[in-house]
Order: sequence, then C-alpha cells, then structure tokens
Amino acid sequence: VIELGQAGHSEITTCAYCGVGCGFKAEMKGEQVVRMVPWKDGQANEGHACVKGRFAWGYATHRDRITKPMIRAKITDPWREVGWEEAIRHTASEFRRIQARHGKDSVGGITSSRCTNEEAYLVQKLVRAAFGNNNVDTCARVCHSPTGYGLGQTYGTSAGTQTFKSIEHSDVILVIGANPTAAHPVFGSRMKKRLRAGAKLIVIDPREIELVKSPHIRADYHLQLRPGTNVAMITALAHVIVTEGWLAQDYIDQRCDAKSFAQWQEFVARPENSPEAMAEITGVAPELVRGAARLYALGAEDHPEGRPVNAAIYYGLGVTEHAQGSTMVMGIANLAMATGNVGREGVGVNPLRGQNNVQGSCDMGSFPHELPGYRHISDSTVRAEFEGAWGVALSPEPGLRIPNMFEAALAGSFMGLYCEGEDIVQSDPNTQHVTAALSNMECVVVQDIFLNETAKYAHVFLPGASFLEKDGTFTNAERRISRVRKVMAPLAGHADWEVTQLLANALGYPMAYAHPREIMAEIAALTPSFAGVSYDKIDRLGSVQWPCNDGTDEAGTSIMHVDRFVRGKGRFIITKYVATDEKVTQRFPLLLTTGRILSQYNVGAQTRRTHNGHWHSEDKLEIHPHDAEDRGIREGDWVGIQSRAGETVLRACVTERIQPGVVYTTFHFPESGANVITTDSSDWATNCPEYKVTAVQVLPVAQV
Ligand code: SF4
Repeated sequence: VIELGQAGHSEITTCAYCGVGCGFKAEMKGEQVVRMVPWKDGQANEGHACVKGRFAWGYATHRDRITKPMIRAKITDPWREVGWEEAIRHTASEFRRIQARHGKDSVGGITSSRCTNEEAYLVQKLVRAAFGNNNVDTCARVCHSPTGYGLGQTYGTSAGTQTFKSIEHSDVILVIGANPTAAHPVFGSRMKKRLRAGAKLIVIDPREIELVKSPHIRADYHLQLRPGTNVAMITALAHVIVTEGWLAQDYIDQRCDAKSFAQWQEFVARPENSPEAMAEITGVAPELVRGAARLYALGAEDHPEGRPVNAAIYYGLGVTEHAQGSTMVMGIANLAMATGNVGREGVGVNPLRGQNNVQGSCDMGSFPHELPGYRHISDSTVRAEFEGAWGVALSPEPGLRIPNMFEAALAGSFMGLYCEGEDIVQSDPNTQHVTAALSNMECVVVQDIFLNETAKYAHVFLPGASFLEKDGTFTNAERRISRVRKVMAPLAGHADWEVTQLLANALGYPMAYAHPREIMAEIAALTPSFAGVSYDKIDRLGSVQWPCNDGTDEAGTSIMHVDRFVRGKGRFIITKYVATDEKVTQRFPLLLTTGRILSQYNVGAQTRRTHNGHWHSEDKLEIHPHDAEDRGIREGDWVGIQSRAGETVLRACVTERIQPGVVYTTFHFPESGANVITTDSSDWATNCPEYKVTAVQVLPVAQV
C-alpha cells in the first residue's frame, strides 16, 4: 500500500481488460477510486497504459451495478431480491433437483476472463467435485481454444513462446489476423517502436489495419487475403521456403521430429501449394507471397551476415476464429520451426490473447477435457492426484463444451448452468440458437456485476465483484501472473470466489478457503508448471511467468522451448486447406469479418460504462466504395445485413480500408447484433466459432 497522505491511499493491481495485463496504481479517496495511474514498474507495460485501462475504474461503481442477489421462478417473472443465504440455498436445491430428475450430467458451469485464476480454479473444482461431472468450459471456447489445441499438438504446451520485451530483438515481425494498436494498444505501441527502429513488417489481414500504413510505419508486405483462406496462405509461404531451400536444416535436425518434418516437407512442396496455385483462393499476387516468405526466412537484403534473422509471429482472433482455426495455428507453428524461429529472444509464436485472463482460465482447468496445467482428465495418474487432494472420485470422461451444452439443452438433457462473468448471449454466435437453448433450461444462474444479456434468460442472479473488489491473480498473454488487489469492499458483500465456495458448501462439498492465497497454494501443489508460484513471491518480484518451479529461474520462464520443446521434439503437422462452408452465393455475395476499436472492450459491458464509453457510440459496417456504389449506399446510410442465420442493421462507413467483396464490423454494442448474423460454423478441432467469415448481403435499409 502506498500512502497518499491524508487524502487517501493507492494499491497496485492489474487491468481487467485485454491480454497485455498492464499494472496500475489505483488511487483511492476514502472508499472511492479516483484515478488509475499506469505502474512504472509493471513488467508488462513499463508505465504505459491505454484509454480503456485508465478509465476502467468507472464501471466498478456505475449506477447499473446490481448489489443484491435475485431469484425468479420463470424468466418472464419479475426479479425478487433475496439475501445471500436464500439465493445460495435456492440455487443448490435447484441444481440437486435437476440432477435427481435428469441425471448427474445435466448441469455444468462456465468460467471466464472476469474470473481471477483462483476463481476459475474454484469453478472447475465445483463442477468436478460437487456436480460430479466435467461439464466446465470457458470463454476461450469462442476465442483462443485453437491456440490451445494447435500449440499443444506441435510444441507440447498451450501458450505463447515469448515475453513481450522479446520484440526488441526482432528483425522481422509477421502479424496475422491481429490489430495490436486497437486491441492490445500498449503492446501495439511497443511493436511500433520496434518497427520505427527498423524492424521489417509483414501483415496478413483482409483489412488494412493501422500498422499497414501509419505515420512513420509502412508494412513491407500486406498480404490482403480473402477471409477464410489463412491456411492456403500459410501453406503457400511454407512452399516457397521449402522449395527455395531457405529451411533452417540444422535446427530442424536437432530440435524437430524427423518423420513429421519429412511428411510436411513433401506435402508443402507439392505444386498445388505454390503461391501461384493458391492465388485463386487467397486473392493475393504470388510475387507478394514470395517476397514475404523470403523476408520472413532470410530477413532484409542488408541483414548482417553471420547473425541469425530473428523473425517473430504475432497473431490474434483472425487466426483462431475460423473453421480451420486449429489448422492455421499449427501452420504458424510449422513455419516458425522450419525457419528456426523458436526458442530465443526476438522470435517465436505469440498469440495475442484478447482478454485479461483468458490464458489463466485455460491454465486453471476450465476445459471439459483438462485438469489444471493442461493434463487430460483421462490420465488416471493425474486424476488420482486431484482425487487425493479433493477427497472425491473424478469422472474420467470429458464433459460438454459450451456448444454441446446448448445442443443438450435443446434436447432436454442439460438443464442447469452456473455462468460466472461470461455474457454468452452477446458473445456466442447465432444468438437465436443460444437464447433458445437457455430458454429450455430449468435453472440458469448468472454471476456478474451487471444484468447482462444472458441475465434475461436467468432464474438466479448472483451479484459479482469487479476487479477492484477482490484479491487474486491474472495471467496475461506472455504467461505472466500478476496480482489483482482488493482496493474497495465488494459492493454486494462477497468476492466471486466466496460465492462459489458458498455454493459448494450448500451442495454438500466442503470448501473453507479464508483467502485466495490459500487457493493459489493448492493450485501450486497440484500443478507442476505453477509449483513455484506464491503470493509472497509475486509481491516480492512484481510478477512471475509460468512455468515457474524448481527447474526454472525464480521468476519463472520468459522464453519457452529454449533447448527442447515441451513435448520433446517439435512436431510438424500437415495443414491441408479446406474451403469454409461460408461461401458467397448470389443471395449472400459478400463476406463479413469482425474486429475491435481502441476505446471499447469486447461486448462493451464495462467500457460503455466508463468515461471513454462515448468516444464511439455505435458499431459501423465498413464497405468498399465499389460495393457501396453498386448498392446505392452512401457514407452514414443505415444498411441491412442479412446472413443465413439472421439479420441486423448498421450505419455504413464507406472506406478503402476493406477490400471489394468483404465487409467489416465491430461487436461492442448490443444494439448492433453482430452475433445475430454469425453462424454456427466452427473450428473442426475445438468448436471455436467461425466469427471471422460470414456470407452476407448488404442493402440500403429501405430494400431489406
Ligand atoms: Fe493495458 Fe490492455 Fe488494459 Fe489497455 S486494455 S491498459 S493495453 S491491459
């Protein structure tokens, strides 16, 4: 605690928005936060912050906060305020009634990035130990689950390879399907600084993001591909590197699995994978692909001889939210291994996590098939460790993913949901499908700070605590675990971890944690990659990066896979391009893709309730001048957007940032209904929705 004289005090905590995880000093006067100042010693941000984080405290005390538990028998009934005891007793009794009637597997839970690590851990423990099944999933299902799968398959662990600082050593930066200056602004600034210092830039994106052309920065290559063709592009880049002989053969021989490499090499060298053959699919001129491949593999023409080129890949949801999201992650991993770009400063494969603790929620076992630390639930040795510590037998069967929960609800076999901090109605694709599933459930429990869109379908509302009202930890995109510190008392009387604990006890499964530090001690005892993590150490060092245990530095691991990959030998995987089902037709002739703006965060539930909330007041549809002219659409017109799933209305923004045949919108405002039009298509391996490609028609409103 830093004393501010008689006026108040301040406390160091971590931003609750994006995956950069900036450290902040929250300054208090009495019980009120009055300012958030970026923490100069914060290892993720080094004293910098963006507009979202600076104003984040505003939503914590917004008048829309709900501070009393509420229940109702039917979703058409009005809410009735009750005390905590009645709310918890009612919820436990409803879940037990549902399980008695529909079976043990008829209930489940969802964690989110709004949860601290400790809270996510408790929710999955509640589901596994008190509900008795593995029906737990997390918000990562709809964003970076393909990262978990793809990097797990190729490298052996589900996380980015670098620390943010590593970019200071990069010669070439390849950005794929990410818009760092809008979605990860503090890291975006760090990237710009490196680019201004001379690093080369390749951008693969259907849209001209700010980095492509901004003051003092020009991308050396912008591969402006058609949405849905990432895998064709990454395979074409690999084709050039293999056929031109630009492979890092010594690295491959020493570090990678020989058999999988030989198969991959033979595959990518085939003529059908050349940039010329792929041009018809991607829409990108072959010479640009060849030039970009050369730059990534060999660096700039004037790169000093004798020093390896450090080429780093940064990617975002434009990679993962596709029907081939997992395939693309593996394609990226292949490319980095083939050129020797894993395991040292300045290189690597770096997923830019969209949310503050999406990494942590995955690490903590919030997936239906994995216990904390990414260990499969079917592994009897691992299960036995948790069974011993938790005092219950665990089911070896993976549980339901979020989309499977919806399907089971519509089939009448999944009837009770405990949802902590995730607004699934606004976040998940095909809203109509989601609301139909929720409407079919007998008890939906929403634990949140606001009455979000999902709460409209809830029977129990348990008021949550903002990041300023609880202790815990968040893990950012560089695996950095930082403290979240309580600076004000929970407005509703309980932090979220306490509510989960109350519910577990009411269900007959005892939990008795006095403070989140005790939960972290349990996590460390049961999770090898967290074995050296403790609150005392984080308080002393500022943060630590997992893996953090006896085999690492005291502060953990800044660069992964230095001498060997976590899985041993790096594994190449064949990445065959398969066209998405979202094809353009005469009825739906355009492809819609989505992204973010700087001042808003995700569905806007928090940022719309802060002082920067009005800087942009609506989502807009970007459309190329040719497509606009064809339809008689002018700047600022209202336009109707129709897809196979539904329709919505947005205001048009006519711009050459987007290519002809493609339209683009953001998804920060509930009125825009971006997810009313996204479809059920999803990644083949993880069910991550294909948000980034939806075939649509766009017409002036009068013609819809
Ligand atoms: Fe930092 Fe992201 Fe928060 Fe901005 S939103 S302050 S970049 S963590």
